[in-house]
Amino acid sequence: MTASSETSARPRSVLCSRGRWPLLAQPRALVLYLISVIVLDVVLIAALASVTSFRAADVATLAALMGCGAVCIEATRRLGMPAGVSRDLLSAWWLPVAFLLPPVYAVLAPIPLQILLQLRVRATVLYRRVFSAAAIGLAAGAASGVFHRWVPHPADLYGGSGRPIAVAAACAVVFTVLNTALIAVAAHTADPEGRWGEVLWDRERVLLDAVELCLGVVVAVVCGLNLALLLLVLPPVVLLQRSLLHAQLQAAARTDPKTGLLNAAAWQREADTEIVRARRTGVPLALILVDIDHFKRVNDTYGHLVGDQVLAQVAATLRGQLRDYDVVGRFGGEEFVVLLPGADVHEARRVAERLRTRVGRMVVAAEQATVAVTVSAGVAIMSIHGDDLIELLAAADLALYRAKELGRDRICLPAAPLAPPQRRADGATGAIP
Ligand code: GH3
Ligand code: MG
Ligand code: MG
Repeated sequence: MTASSETSARPRSVLCSRGRWPLLAQPRALVLYLISVIVLDVVLIAALASVTSFRAADVATLAALMGCGAVCIEATRRLGMPAGVSRDLLSAWWLPVAFLLPPVYAVLAPIPLQILLQLRVRATVLYRRVFSAAAIGLAAGAASGVFHRWVPHPADLYGGSGRPIAVAAACAVVFTVLNTALIAVAAHTADPEGRWGEVLWDRERVLLDAVELCLGVVVAVVCGLNLALLLLVLPPVVLLQRSLLHAQLQAAARTDPKTGLLNAAAWQREADTEIVRARRTGVPLALILVDIDHFKRVNDTYGHLVGDQVLAQVAATLRGQLRDYDVVGRFGGEEFVVLLPGADVHEARRVAERLRTRVGRMVVAAEQATVAVTVSAGVAIMSIHGDDLIELLAAADLALYRAKELGRDRICLPAAPLAPPQRRADGATGAIP
């Protein structure tokens, strides 16, 4: 995956850019940083161009590799793009440029593909595209410079000896690290409270980076052997790119974009599976419905953007307090729902109480104030308060209603276990109040 301001980091202030000159609406430090990177890129292009003798064969290689990149973009375009974060394998085409051609080509290469992405895939604010092209260009230029310093004859890369390939792999790592660092600084400047780790370290991302780097080195070797061999590597790369996008679209369809939790439909599917399993194995299971107290007041006082930040932070707090196999989702609005496989009534109470306390300690920074919220929660236990998902949700909802009535910032269980025989006399399975 190539890190770009478009794909890897979504600084909060960048997200709410509006107006004719969105760049100028950003914090001054961010504007300065973005402009510095772009100017540095332009200066590097000019400096390298002045010392490079452009050869037709090199231009043809660049055109062939960019053509492959363009085919990849076009071949995946119709699948659609997941909202927000998305990843691509375009470095597979930039890295060969960096290894096989003089560095100026590596700095120039991102420009045509970023233009294509802007025109054909997603028209984003222009400065983000320009910054992405500059960040990739600088990283690729640096990788290219280092590679050519250690391997003066690019032909050695496909001569069969191991050293140039090892240098290429190391330079590919340099490319990724630099590119990610340039983007991470932008994200951090835009949102100083954001955690570095979120931008810099993500197991899935590192894995994808590794795949992309391997791909880049292999394409470079193949392309160096014979440009026509690109016709053989293009189809598998396109296929990889499509399956990557497909996986991202699938993940996006399950996720609530504001909180990153499961959306209601995906949560329900997973919860149903867990309930069937619990019924089969006889293992206990609990459901907690969590609702932020007086959330409307937060919106009314601080605005919806701060309200959204609160939602995201509550979601992160809930996720952070739960085990990997607990199923947590955003149920709608300011309501969250948690399924605890294996939890009996004591465990469920304990977890719900911990969630309530942790959210209560949370502080969200608004422009000139800090926002704190509390939550109320309704807890329902399988086999005691209901036998299926609908019954459990109904019971937890009643308990939540009681928690609200009793003054909020508390957890409640249903007043009494529901009585299944009477409830089922008419065959009704119950409905969420
Ligand atoms: P209570 O303690 O009784 O739950 O009061 P409340 O204000 O939290 O509940 P109410 O149902 O009156 O209001 C919920 C508010 O949540 C109203 C709605 O504007 C807000 N809301 C729902 N979804 C979102 C969202 O995605 N973002 C933001 N910022 N607000 C949302
Ligand atoms: Mg509420
Ligand atoms: Mg509510």
